[in-house]
Amino acid sequence: MINRKSPAQIEKIARAGEIVAGCLSMLKGMCRPGVTTAELDKAAEKFIREHGGVPTFKGYRGFPASICASPNAMVVHGIPGQYRVNEGDIISLDVGVTLKGWVADAALTVEAGDAGQLARRLLEVTEASLRRAIAKCRPGNRLGDISHAVQEYVEPNGFSVVRTLVGHGVGRKLHEDPQIPNYGSPGTGPELREGMVFAIEPMVNVGTHEVLVGDDHWAMSTADGKLSAHFEHTVAITAAGPRVLTAAKGAEGTGLDAGPLLW
Ligand code: MG
Repeated sequence: MINRKSPAQIEKIARAGEIVAGCLSMLKGMCRPGVTTAELDKAAEKFIREHGGVPTFKGYRGFPASICASPNAMVVHGIPGQYRVNEGDIISLDVGVTLKGWVADAALTVEAGDAGQLARRLLEVTEASLRRAIAKCRPGNRLGDISHAVQEYVEPNGFSVVRTLVGHGVGRKLHEDPQIPNYGSPGTGPELREGMVFAIEPMVNVGTHEVLVGDDHWAMSTADGKLSAHFEHTVAITAAGPRVLTAAKGAEGTGLDAGPLLW
């Protein structure tokens, strides 16, 4: 069952989302060659707690850290540690914040130094696919419209969409109904209604869509060792259209037309 939120509840998720956005902006600035993912995690936890939030991921099903940090071929769920960011890496950073019982969740992939043309195109295509998915978050559309928007953009660009990991409802809990695959058919699935809040998160690979779980039982990496990117926002469906609750300050709204990437 898809739990819908009142406008007042959406505001509470938006407050958590502001902390997520601020934390990701800080991490983006820090994510340079030489920094360790443990240092990023420590700074993120400090930031979140100083803003009155709780890092949602810490302790979630036993996850030991505040953020996920997933370099290069790692898709998601990397446990921060002694990994030192190298010149030319791409690092996927995922942050969840609980504030007064309400959860927001977002992710982005950062280029450390010069990662090259292929990596940059992967980031651009993945982020653009998220924007296209967000544009479908309107009352009267169907869940499959969101899924299809990612797939129909990513695959003609020569990349693949991860199948075994999906987006999700969010708000009271980190993972609520429905599951939101990044592939599917338009016009299918539940009708989208005002008050639904979704974490939409395309995970896009340069090579095969297949992923493997690591020895730590958390990290998911591409089966062929090629690069992967991940962009995610928490989005509320409102009468006026999609409202991104984890947009960076000054980039509120949808920014869905062509032009500069707003988040
Ligand atoms: Mg998520």
